[in-house]
Amino acid sequence: MILNLNTPVSLLPMIGKKRESLLASLSIYTISDLLTYYPRGYQDRSKLTPISALRGKGRETIAGQVMRHIRFGKVKRAIISDGRGSANLMFFGPDPAKLLPLGTKVIVTGKAKRMGGKIFFSNFEYEALKEEADSHLKIVPLYRLSVEFGRFGQRLFRKIIEQAIDFYKEKLEDSIPREIAEQMKLTSLSEAISNIHFPLNWKKRKEARERIVFTELFFLQVALQINRQRTKIIHKNRLYSKKDCSKFVESLPFSLTKSQERVISEIEKDLSSPHPMNRLLHGDVGSGKTVVALWAGFKVASSGFQVAIMAPTEILADQHYIVAKRWLAPLGIEVGILRGGLPVSVQKKAKKLIANGQIQVVIGTHSLISEDVQFSNLALCIIDEQHKFGVSQRQKLLEKANGHSDLLIMTATPIPRTLSITLYGDMDVSTLNEFPKGRGRIITAVRSDKSLPKIYSFIKDEIKKGRQAYFVYPAIEESQERDYKSAIKHFEKIVLEFPEIPVGLLHGKLKPEEKEEMMQKFAQGEIKILVSTTVIEVGIDVSQATIMVIEDAEKFGLSGLHQLRGRIGRGSLDSYCILITKEKIAASAQLEIKVDTEEKDRVSVERIQAIKNITNGFELAEYDLKLRGAGELFGLRQHGLSELKLANIIWDTRLLLKARDCAAALVANDPLLNEEAHLLLRDAIIRIFGKKMELGFVR
Ligand code: ADP
Ligand code: MG
Repeated sequence: MILNLNTPVSLLPMIGKKRESLLASLSIYTISDLLTYYPRGYQDRSKLTPISALRGKGRETIAGQVMRHIRFGKVKRAIISDGRGSANLMFFGPDPAKLLPLGTKVIVTGKAKRMGGKIFFSNFEYEALKEEADSHLKIVPLYRLSVEFGRFGQRLFRKIIEQAIDFYKEKLEDSIPREIAEQMKLTSLSEAISNIHFPLNWKKRKEARERIVFTELFFLQVALQINRQRTKIIHKNRLYSKKDCSKFVESLPFSLTKSQERVISEIEKDLSSPHPMNRLLHGDVGSGKTVVALWAGFKVASSGFQVAIMAPTEILADQHYIVAKRWLAPLGIEVGILRGGLPVSVQKKAKKLIANGQIQVVIGTHSLISEDVQFSNLALCIIDEQHKFGVSQRQKLLEKANGHSDLLIMTATPIPRTLSITLYGDMDVSTLNEFPKGRGRIITAVRSDKSLPKIYSFIKDEIKKGRQAYFVYPAIEESQERDYKSAIKHFEKIVLEFPEIPVGLLHGKLKPEEKEEMMQKFAQGEIKILVSTTVIEVGIDVSQATIMVIEDAEKFGLSGLHQLRGRIGRGSLDSYCILITKEKIAASAQLEIKVDTEEKDRVSVERIQAIKNITNGFELAEYDLKLRGAGELFGLRQHGLSELKLANIIWDTRLLLKARDCAAALVANDPLLNEEAHLLLRDAIIRIFGKKMELGFVR
C-alpha cells in the first residue's frame, strides 16, 4: 500500500464500498480527511457512577440497559437500569425505540436531574454498546456522524480511526520545522493525532489540541505571510512624482487629524517603494478615510497615472465623486464617474475618457470592472467598504492596471485584531483611531412605541432649528412571512405625523436615479425627514442630520446598527440615535437588568444594551464576535478560515499570536520556503492553500 495522507480511505483493510460511502457522507475521502476528523466531544468512562449514587452535580457517566420506552406527546423517553437504579433519558426529536431498542446496553454522560424521586437526563451524550466494546479506553471520543452510521456508528467509526492511526502513526510526516517545534515545545504529530482521538488522560489531550491548533494557525499564517512577501518581491516599475502634496492638504476645509497624517505617511512610503502597495485602511465610520484615499489619488494622478476608486453603491460613488471633484478639480485633476444608473450615452462617454486617459481619477461602482472598461494607465486601485466586495471583484479591478497596481482597501467594519490577523494577515494594515476634532456627541437611547409621540415632537423642534432626521426600518414593504416594520407603510404614517415637513422615502427597490435624487434632496436639506431602509448604511454624509430613529431595532445586527448610527454625528452638533424596540426589550435595556425574557429576546436585549453603551466600533466588533462566533461575521470563507478545524480564532488568541510571529520570522528568512528544512512545510502549504489563495510560488 502506498502510504501517504492523500491515499483514499478505501485502501484501508476495513473499508469496503459501503463504508467508503458512509465516510463520504462526512466528506471523508482520504486518510488525511479521516485523521483530521476530530471528535466533537469525549466520554470519560474511567469513573462510572452507579445510577443510585447520581448526585446531579456536574457531568457524570452511567452505564445501563434499556428496559422500557415511554411516549408522552412529543417527548419520548427510554428508561435504563443498571440493576440497582433506573434513569429516564429524554428524547425530544428522534425516537428512542429506534435508536435504543429494548435490551440495548448504553453509556450516558450528562447532568442528571431529580424530579419526584426519578432521575432524568435531558441533555446528554450517549452511546449504544455492543458487548464490552472498547473496554480498553477510558476517555472515549464521540464523533459527529450522519444517521446512516446507525446505532453502533460511534464504535464503528472509532475502529476505523484506530486502524488508520495504527497504520499511519509512525509514517506521518511532520511539516512543522524542527526549530519551531522545539521552540514551542510541541508534542510530536503522531502523539498529537493519537491523543486527540484517544486521549490517555486529559493532560495529554490538552497538549494534543494545542499542537494541532498551533499547526492549523501556523499553516494559515505561513500562507498569508508568503502572500504578503510576494508583493515585496514584485517590482511595479513606475515612479510617482516626488513633489509634495501640501497643495492638496492646504486646500482642505479642515486640518488633518494626527491619525490621518500618520496613515498618509504610511501610504506615501508604500507609494514611493519599488513594490506595489498592498494596504488595508481600517477606520470606524466617520474617522475620515475618504480624505486619505483622495490624498493618495492626488499623489498618483498628479504624477500622470490613473486612479480608480470603487464603492459598493451608486449613492456612495456619487458622494465620493462630489467630494473628489470639489477637492481635486481645483488642483487641475480631471475627475469622472462611472456607474450603472447613468444614461448609457453618459456611460459611453465616460468609458471613452477613461480609456484615453483624460479622466485621471475615476470613481465608480461594480461598473468599473465590467469587460468593456479599459484604462489607459491605471496605477492605483482604491476599494471603499471593501467587505462588500468579493476577493474576485478586487482581483478584476487590479487586472485593469497595466503592471502591478498599488492597492488600498478601506473598511469601516471594525475588525478585532485577532480576526484581522487571520483575515488580512497578507496585507499591511493602517488604522485611523481618532475622530476629527469638534465632533458633537452621539447620544443613544432605547425606547418603545409608547414614546413615539414624544419623539415626534422632539423631532419637530429640532427640525425648526434646521436639523434633519432619519427613520430607519428593517423591511421595505410589509410581508406575510415576517413581522417587520416597513419603510413604505411607515412613510405614510410619518407624512401624516409631520404635515408641514417635507418627507422622503428611500429604499433598495427604487431605481438608481430615484435613489440618487432622493439622497441629493436630503443632502441639500430640501427634504427634512428621510424614511429609509439600510440602503443609507454606508458612507452617506449629511452634517445637519442629527437624529436617527431606528424602529424594530432588535431586528438589526450589531454591526448594522453601528453603521447606521455612524450616519449621524458627522458635524459639530450633538446627535441622537433613538432605538425603538418591543416594550420588554426597551425596559430591560434601559434598566440594564435582565428581565425574565425568552431566549430570543435575551439576545436582543444584550445587543441593544451593547449598542447603547458602547460607541467604539472595535469594542462592539469584539463583542459581536463573541456573541455570534467568527463564522458568521464576514462570510470570508475563501480566506482559509475553513481550514481551521480545531482552532478557534476568538479564543485561541495566545496560539494565534505565536503562530503569526513564528510564521513571519520564518517567511522573512526564506520567502519561498526553498530551504531543505522547509520543504515539507512548503508541500503542506501548497496542498492546503494552493488553490484557495493563489500563493506566490504556485505559478
Ligand atoms: P469615513 O471614514 O466613514 O469614510 P468620511 O471620510 O466620510 O468618513 O469623513 C466623515 C466626515 O468627516 C466628512 O464630512 C469629512 O469631510 C469629515 N472630515 C474628515 N477628516 C476631517 C478632519 N481632519 N477634520 C474635520 N472633518 C473631517
Ligand atoms: Mg467612507
